[in-house]
Amino acid sequence: MTSPYDILFEPVKIGPVTARNRFYQVPHCNGMGYRDPTALAHMRGVKAEGGWAVVCTEQVELHHSSEITPFIELRLWDDRDIPALARMAEKIHEHGALAGIELAYNGMNGPNLYSREVPMGPAHLPVATFTYDPVQARAMDKTDIANLRGWHLAAVKRAKRAGFDLIYVYAAHALGFLHHFLSKRYNQRGDEYGGSIENRVRLLREITEETKAAVGDTCAVPIRISVDELLGEGGLEVAEVEDMIGLLADLPDLWDVTLAGWENDSRTSRFAEEGAQEPFISGIKRLTSKPVVGVGRYTSVDRMAALVRKGVLDMIGAARPSIADPFLPTKIREGRLEDIRECIGCNICVSGDFTQSPLRCTQNPTMAEEWRKGWHPERIRPKETDKPVLIIGAGPAGLEAAQALGKRGYEVALAEAGRELGGRVARECRLPGLAAWGRVRDYRLMQLHKLPHVQIYLESRLTAADVTEFGFPRVVLATGARWRNDFVGHQHTTAIPVAESAQIFTPDDIMNGAYPTARRVLVWDDDHYYMGGVMAEALAKQGHQVIYATPASEASTWTRNTMEQHFIQKRLLEAGVEIIVSRGIARVAADHAVLVCVFTGRETIIEVGAVLPVTARLPNDALLHELRALDLARHGIEQLSAMGDALAPATIAHATYAGRRFAEELDAPLLPDGVLPFKREITALFEA
Ligand code: ADP
Ligand code: SF4
Repeated sequence: MTSPYDILFEPVKIGPVTARNRFYQVPHCNGMGYRDPTALAHMRGVKAEGGWAVVCTEQVELHHSSEITPFIELRLWDDRDIPALARMAEKIHEHGALAGIELAYNGMNGPNLYSREVPMGPAHLPVATFTYDPVQARAMDKTDIANLRGWHLAAVKRAKRAGFDLIYVYAAHALGFLHHFLSKRYNQRGDEYGGSIENRVRLLREITEETKAAVGDTCAVPIRISVDELLGEGGLEVAEVEDMIGLLADLPDLWDVTLAGWENDSRTSRFAEEGAQEPFISGIKRLTSKPVVGVGRYTSVDRMAALVRKGVLDMIGAARPSIADPFLPTKIREGRLEDIRECIGCNICVSGDFTQSPLRCTQNPTMAEEWRKGWHPERIRPKETDKPVLIIGAGPAGLEAAQALGKRGYEVALAEAGRELGGRVARECRLPGLAAWGRVRDYRLMQLHKLPHVQIYLESRLTAADVTEFGFPRVVLATGARWRNDFVGHQHTTAIPVAESAQIFTPDDIMNGAYPTARRVLVWDDDHYYMGGVMAEALAKQGHQVIYATPASEASTWTRNTMEQHFIQKRLLEAGVEIIVSRGIARVAADHAVLVCVFTGRETIIEVGAVLPVTARLPNDALLHELRALDLARHGIEQLSAMGDALAPATIAHATYAGRRFAEELDAPLLPDGVLPFKREITALFEA
């Protein structure tokens, strides 16, 4: 039977290799890199198993003279790095996919904190890191350029020995020397590598030619390039990059096109719709006869097929959609669209790279746990007992546990106090910019509908008596948390004085539709993730005059890790929100609040009619304590616990992980003392 999506399963020839379909996992960072090579290899292997035709590494440092400590990427500095890379290529090949490697020389993007080599770039400029490292890169001379070409070539040969089928020439994202040479804002050279477009492209051409000459008989050589830096005339723009691509046209075996920097390429759903890059990449195919791959957080299958039909792309590139659902291609091929776990565009995965920790995913709690814990995004071992489970609370933790336990075959009762399922995601997805977050609920509900032995009870706020009457031997509370209204959080660990007549609101009030009547409202953000900024935005939209204050030095500072901080602050400023930084809060009266400078202790009075603290949350654990006070054995309850926000409030990703963990560990043998609950790799010691 033919399907409108058959076009997505046509093979694509990429130079000397052939991809089995059009699904292409573009390179993406993951916070595992050289520290966790086996965990990483298994993660990529699961993508291949899920049907991706090409599965790539993240950026791989090709020489020790350019490394990006503290970020943890892969390395191919010398032959000793080959086995780790080879393991990944093997895992990808085991499932019939092509393995791609993105060789990177970050140049002036890294201060070389580990190797202590002097960074190099096209010009004498400070290293371009967001932490403003007090280190400069030196301008490369002709010998440096010749050396670098040699290092690149040596790495290319190592990559081939490691078994890779596609070996990238990476010139994108402002993350490496080739991009720096292309862009006027870094390259002001007066020699044959600077000035005209032909000159700025010269090094990219030379390196691509050398790479092809070395491995082009058996490996494909893609170029990854950024079509726009979104900086106006100061940076690369589509017209100029199209000219560059036109100059190289059919030289590479594939063009992988993106926006720069990474924050523009991987915008969150709060700041870009699916397919937001399409206007920038739709003209590339007419410049080359080689396949073109691009990204856009595509999860709509119709959209993907249309991109191919319209001749915008030959292959559908994906990083985040492949993280949220490594089995996306297989599900499309099998016509199981309802089973797709759609990426919500939150960029929690990106935060793994920024925090040097194995990436985690809000939608896919098995991500990065494939080897560490033996979890699989589509499989879970069958039940070990017939003892039913009562889950209380249908937020992300409760829903994930219910569907995973249901798939194991357990009889499950899921009781939810409210009229709708989804807990915090159901409420938060109605806030400005967060609509896609509802997908966390939607995927799980779709799965639950297929599991007749999971009973869902809405409008069922359970009491301790209800729980004991239920008579289920296993009870787990996923009853969530509530925002505090006493200003306790990072800054103040005890409550501050608040006048009785003061109007205090919490994010819960706003989500319940209870907005202040006062016109001037202070949002005091000591949470630092998205909620404070979202509250300010929601209030401004309702016509309030909003003052946003925070003890941090910028709005929503943790969102640097999701690459949103800049966009958030811009949006708040454009909405007319006044931003006051580095301020604690001393006390609140009916008509004003007193802010206090975190450096000097100096106080400032802010006249406002209402204050909305976005601080810490408290677990909804009253029921847990009531139950713990009972003689549980008498009521036949063998196991009682809490998980997710009900245990300790955190991100939605923590909640889905907690739900999955509960389901994975139910009836698993207890780990003996001293055995870790995950696998890890230990660096082999040299002879002392
Ligand atoms: P998490 O992020 O940990 O999943 P949420 O706050 O999203 O937590 O979800 C908690 C859910 O639990 C909410 O939908 C809430 O209505 C529900 N809930 C809280 N207390 C009870 C209770 N006693 N009985 C049933 N449901 C409850
Ligand atoms: Fe998508 Fe968020 Fe998962 Fe990243 S963490 S893949 S953005 S759902």
